[in-house]
Amino acid sequence: MTDQAIQPILRQVSRRKFLRQSGSLAGAASLLVLVAPRPVRGARVDSSQVGVIILLGPPGAGKSEQGRRLTERHSIPVISTGDLLRDHVKRGTQFGLQADPYMKAGKLVPDALMNPILEERLSQPDCERGFILDGYPRALAQAESLDSMLKKKGLSWHVILLEVPTERLLRLLAGRRVCPHCHRSYNIHFQPPKNEGRCDDDGTQLVQRPDDKEEVIQRRLETYQNETQPAIDYYSAQGRLIRIDGAQTPEKVAAEIEAKLGVQ
Ligand code: ADP
Repeated sequence: MTDQAIQPILRQVSRRKFLRQSGSLAGAASLLVLVAPRPVRGARVDSSQVGVIILLGPPGAGKSEQGRRLTERHSIPVISTGDLLRDHVKRGTQFGLQADPYMKAGKLVPDALMNPILEERLSQPDCERGFILDGYPRALAQAESLDSMLKKKGLSWHVILLEVPTERLLRLLAGRRVCPHCHRSYNIHFQPPKNEGRCDDDGTQLVQRPDDKEEVIQRRLETYQNETQPAIDYYSAQGRLIRIDGAQTPEKVAAEIEAKLGVQ
């Protein structure tokens, strides 16, 4: 995305109070919620005790990249609600047909569709030991219903907030390319694949998501500010928020997450 293309979007987003919390262009924030049995303070994280890890954040902030790394490190599956929904859309299920217009518009899919899809996935055996959630909760009501679900399971949770400057976020979104086969994300500006246009893992031709088009990006950022910010405030009020600079390299972000988890 060019500077000329970014500036009008920045002005729009800023006008609509997207940045009202920070009062600066560095206000876009990404939230990573880690739900787990509480490790002993000062101890390194024990992989067998990671439990449930939830990744949230503004679109394009690197949730899926960090999810991929956490999955490898802790050997628990990553469940991306965006991927689950896209899979339903691709298969043309009833859920998918109903969710599709919301996704295309950059709006949240209603809980009546989202929650059953997620619950079905989380009930599968590979989630028994724990899992990583990427993209859920994304609104206060989802955070509250997740709380009760996890309490029933006897789990506690940690929250990590990735903060990313808005301008970088716009570049990240416009430059994002994904592998339609394994869902790995790349960025043509910041994290290009080794072979142009091809997935490093399986060589599949990378694609741009339809909702990464410029006209939808602004709506998605507004949705994040309006719907997800209350969930961030909710976790903050619980004293669970760990702030991480999400504009660092993915390696540094991952290392900081791991380090901060280790002292929680
Ligand atoms: P990103 O985080 O990059 O915006 P995702 O792949 O997480 O993208 O989500 C893509 C779309 O799927 C969202 O714009 C929204 O329409 C829908 N979606 C994903 N997760 C949720 C959720 N927890 N609740 C409602 N809708 C969701």
